[in-house]
Amino acid sequence: MGELPGRPEWIVDALNKGWRFCCGVDLSGTGRKGNVIFCGAVSASGSRVPVEVRCGKWSSPELARQLDAIDALYGPEIILVENNGYQRAFQDWAAADGERHAWWGRVKGFVTGRNKANATLGLPGLEVEFENGVWRVPRREFADHGGFCDRGPDGGPCGWCRWVEEMESYPHVGSDDTVMACWFFREACRLLSGSNVNFRRARMREGEREMGSF
Ligand SMILES: [Zn+2]
Repeated sequence: MGELPGRPEWIVDALNKGWRFCCGVDLSGTGRKGNVIFCGAVSASGSRVPVEVRCGKWSSPELARQLDAIDALYGPEIILVENNGYQRAFQDWAAADGERHAWWGRVKGFVTGRNKANATLGLPGLEVEFENGVWRVPRREFADHGGFCDRGPDGGPCGWCRWVEEMESYPHVGSDDTVMACWFFREACRLLSGSNVNFRRARMREGEREMGSF
């Protein structure tokens, strides 16, 4: 299972352990920085595990190539994209070359609006999940990038550093493209596992730890 040429061993192992990959994609609009692909998994125990944050000012063909590469690595089951005119156009465009872009049928639209502020399902719910240890962020990957990371494709911060920066400053300064992509990823996780079972599990784990059974 999961064995594709060029797929790193850790991903094959993760798939064999029951990890399920999915992505949130923030599509660029006019006057915005670019696209963000936030890729991660729901682990077998229900944690959300981000694995890659890719940012770039890509055209549609370039974005499609990025998703080809993501698909070859992780085989995401759901690619969640904000439901707007561009999403439909992009999906139709990818479907026209469905042989090359096998992921097109896994693109799903997500309607944003007032749900963004919802205490459980929106961005505040993300914060609760972080506090409750539902997320396992691979900080080692970017811990040594420093306060002014320049490892991104354009000499700016890499996707990880941009995400941390935007999460910490949300909603006060700058852009929130990675925050949105992260939220779409989280919604894709919920679609994969059904409701917010993961959150309840995390709380149970916390309780067990307190009772000393960990
Ligand atoms: Zn960085």
